[in-house]
Amino acid sequence: MTRRVALVGNPNVGKSTIFNALTGLHQHTGNWAGVTVSCTFGDFSIDGQKFSAIDLPGIYSFDVRSQEEAVTRDYVRSEDFDTLLLICDATCLERGLHLLAQAAELLRERTETHSLPQTILCVNLCDEAKKKGICIDFSLLQQKLKIPVVACSARTKSGLRNLKQALANDPGPTPVCFACPVFASCSLTEALPIQRLPAPFDPAETAGKVVTYTRSDYRRREEKLDRLLTGPVSGGLIMCLLLVGVFWLTITGANYPSSLLWDFFFGIETFLAESAQTAGLPDWLIGAGIYGVFRVVSWIVSVMLPPMAIFFPLFTLLEDFGYLPRAAFNMDGAFHKCRACGKQCLTMAMGLGCNAAGVVGCRIIDSPRERLIAILTNSLVPCNGRFPLLLTMISLFFMGGTGFWTAGETAALSGPTAVWAGFLPALALTAFILAGIAATLASSWLLSHTLLKGVPSSFTLELPPYRRPQLGKVLVRSLFDRTLFVLGRAVAVAAPAGLMIWLTANITIGNQSLLLWCSGFFEPLGHLMGLDGIILMAFILGFPANEIILPIILMAYLQTGCLVDMNDKSALAALLLSHGWTARTVVCMAIFSLFHWPCSTTCLTVRKETGSLKWTAVAFLLPTCIGVILCILTTALWNILP
Ligand code: GDP
Repeated sequence: MTRRVALVGNPNVGKSTIFNALTGLHQHTGNWAGVTVSCTFGDFSIDGQKFSAIDLPGIYSFDVRSQEEAVTRDYVRSEDFDTLLLICDATCLERGLHLLAQAAELLRERTETHSLPQTILCVNLCDEAKKKGICIDFSLLQQKLKIPVVACSARTKSGLRNLKQALANDPGPTPVCFACPVFASCSLTEALPIQRLPAPFDPAETAGKVVTYTRSDYRRREEKLDRLLTGPVSGGLIMCLLLVGVFWLTITGANYPSSLLWDFFFGIETFLAESAQTAGLPDWLIGAGIYGVFRVVSWIVSVMLPPMAIFFPLFTLLEDFGYLPRAAFNMDGAFHKCRACGKQCLTMAMGLGCNAAGVVGCRIIDSPRERLIAILTNSLVPCNGRFPLLLTMISLFFMGGTGFWTAGETAALSGPTAVWAGFLPALALTAFILAGIAATLASSWLLSHTLLKGVPSSFTLELPPYRRPQLGKVLVRSLFDRTLFVLGRAVAVAAPAGLMIWLTANITIGNQSLLLWCSGFFEPLGHLMGLDGIILMAFILGFPANEIILPIILMAYLQTGCLVDMNDKSALAALLLSHGWTARTVVCMAIFSLFHWPCSTTCLTVRKETGSLKWTAVAFLLPTCIGVILCILTTALWNILP
């Protein structure tokens, strides 16, 4: 029979790390509260005994305040499970004991309808406690609670064997005997009788007896760093510098691998096309399959993979270090003024990776009103799918000798030194992201004063301890969980989209392709926005995945019926210039790539999270209206100014 284990604990105590260590799965972990917003299931076995584990969302208290806390409370209250594994943080044991006391109470209340599960207390993060001079007398703790207490340090997998032993030991009451792996001085060698549930106990008193502090200065370094990272001036400044730094590394680092990848795919494409021709395949099949589907997919992989493979690990490093909640803390005042929730900053940061993930992440916001505001405004920051387009526009804008600028203007743009010129694109990208943040704040304000009136709620934002990021894990996690996940989705969408693009460009009505007929319809609006009909059409066709917008534009301009190599930016600039593009078109294009409707996946996610078509429509229209208005204003201003 499979035994069910429920993992419960405060946020950020290492539940997912323990869950992963037990099940061998790769559930996302991060150094801030709210990473686990939905339940995750996984199986494992110990000595032939099968277990099925569920990682429940982190909970501060069973007196629920948020959606995820309700999920956890309801599970513990009404589901059948054999073991409640309560995980707590060794550096703040008392908090974990409060949760344990509440959980025990809840389990006691349901004895008439459910069998009593075994309760195990796992005291994690013992390595951090040791570093901070916090010593726990586990022997005494177990004596007091009379349930198995396991000390562990999940990051290094220390103590996991004991944990497994404790899990396999059920059903009690049997004597247990565990040696504490981290604190040799307080090893637990005595066999003690154990119960299924702890008898009612006072958490504060229990913690006061079992915990001793041997260092008083352990917080000093963290406090200094906190003063710097969350200071009124230094906090904002460091945040901007970090953004510029991350973007600079992303932009400069991505170019070379991008062109290598493109060459690689282009080589394969030539080989495939030649082989297909030799095999006598019909032209339409070669066109649709190789120049349609394969080329769009190669394009997306070579343009998206390198920047993502740089951006995501950098972002994950900051996350692991514990920086994100500090950034949310810095932004809290601004969000509060807009009557929104400071935690929205965290969901916004998640949106930088993927808006759909950002929308799901909004579950960490307790108030339904504020959660809705965060969902509706999430796509005002560009996700990774929009980054390549934004980046290409920014590099075109700052590229000299392309014809967009006169020689004098080019010199002025490049600035006095080459080093400075190298930073300009990163600065411009930062400015765009800041514009996205400003739009998020302004829209939150507008929504709070119109459709979603209300006062901002107070909330607790936990500033987690700074932790040294695990470089290897960060790389693996960001590459597999984020980069390849986003890429996989893009490719899955791009393959059929590639076929559709090929068809619209190759099916002709009269002597014009379907693509050109449709774009003619959008020409007047496109013109007003400083763009053209083809560009707008490309944005519409890019609804499934933003990455394919630029390839569609190029394909339509060239009328080749398939995507072209645009790795060479001067060739790209020459082509765009020959189709009437100016520096203004580049700017409007960048603005519209930042502010337009969310992709289809995000729209579906908004629909799922809000359960409402009306709010999905608002999420769709809000960034679109901002984009259209800004483009029209920019065009008008550009025309007026000399
Ligand atoms: P959850 O929110 O409870 O699921 O916590 P996570 O499993 O996401 O872990 C939160 C953070 O704590 C991550 O950065 C982990 O790498 C880190 N962590 C987890 N267990 C340990 C541990 O035993 N020692 C240390 N130093 N860090 C840990």
